[in-house]
Amino acid sequence: MTEETAQPNPVRLRTTLAGVPAYTPGKPAAPLEGVTAYKISSNENPYPPLPSVLEAVREAAGTINRYPDMGVTGLTAALAERLDVPSSHVATGTGSVAVLAQLINITCDPGDEVIYAWRSFEAYPIVVALAGASPVQVPLDADARHDLDAMAEAITERTRLILVCTPNNPTGPAVRADELRDFLAKVPQDVLVVIDEAYLEFTTEDTVPDALAIYREHPNVAVLRTFSKAYGLAGLRVGYAVAHEEVATALRKAATPFGVSDLAQEAAIASLTAYDELEVRVKELVGERERVVAALREQGWPVPDAQGNFVWLPLREDAVPFAQACQERGLTVRPFAGEGVRCTIGETEASDRLIEICGEWLTQRT
Ligand SMILES: *Cc1c(COP(=O)(O)O)cnc(C)c1O
Repeated sequence: MTEETAQPNPVRLRTTLAGVPAYTPGKPAAPLEGVTAYKISSNENPYPPLPSVLEAVREAAGTINRYPDMGVTGLTAALAERLDVPSSHVATGTGSVAVLAQLINITCDPGDEVIYAWRSFEAYPIVVALAGASPVQVPLDADARHDLDAMAEAITERTRLILVCTPNNPTGPAVRADELRDFLAKVPQDVLVVIDEAYLEFTTEDTVPDALAIYREHPNVAVLRTFSKAYGLAGLRVGYAVAHEEVATALRKAATPFGVSDLAQEAAIASLTAYDELEVRVKELVGERERVVAALREQGWPVPDAQGNFVWLPLREDAVPFAQACQERGLTVRPFAGEGVRCTIGETEASDRLIEICGEWLTQRT
């Protein structure tokens, strides 16, 4: 008997699930005769793992019959030392998306409110809705930046958590240190503010906040970071939060037991050790980003400040057709229907092709 002919399944699922949007994964670019396909839709690092990192993973693979170190001791100690924070303030998870879900689980009862900017990271509405919390989305301003004044005004009695994504995925701008400090002065002490710095390593503006300094001054601030982007370990799933004692302890309670594999733990430690080498690659990507932004602006595209490893094309109703045109040229970009297209800075050839397609797009429209 197939599912199709069966009675509707009477199993009762949580009603909140109906409101949970599905995550749209970046698809691999379709193969095209004689054209190298590039996937620049998921903000991945185009560089393969460093030899030293691969070696650490190979070694860790020899013990995968065992559970990983549940306390994530080595990585936690390495992070604590690197960031100059107590180990008890570090909480790891299977990617920073998982840590984010833990943050919501430890702060929100059903109906409590989570404020974040919109458009921002598409995982936010998913993890908020899954927790049964209520999303409060505050529109970005005309420059595709967080409107921190409007976010402060959105705070109510029910607000438990505020997410600040800087640089903002998918639009690119980072918040400024001064505006973030002014904002924090308006947030009640019992509301947790999470600064999501997934793209911190790619930032170049000197107005970018020192989130760790801000966390040190504010017991209600946590910093969220990942090994998926600059560190190039997206496939291993490891991220972390830096938060004050009570918050970090609660985060560890809410974590999936044995979630972060030994492979991920060892790869992350090796990556911290080899950061000088990784930083060379990050600088290359930043240079490439500047080149792409300059070329697109030269063509007349209103590209917002790009502080991550991606650029935003505010195409509005043309977002999907543009992505389709890219796909036909072997380039997978990430459209947000009716809003815009996010393009990751990856291989040079991919950027060149993007610039070319963007140029042609404008000439066809004029
Ligand atoms: C990619 C990204 C993350 C990190 O996701 P992982 O689960 O660590 O891979 C977190 N926040 C934002 C805004 C991101 O774009």
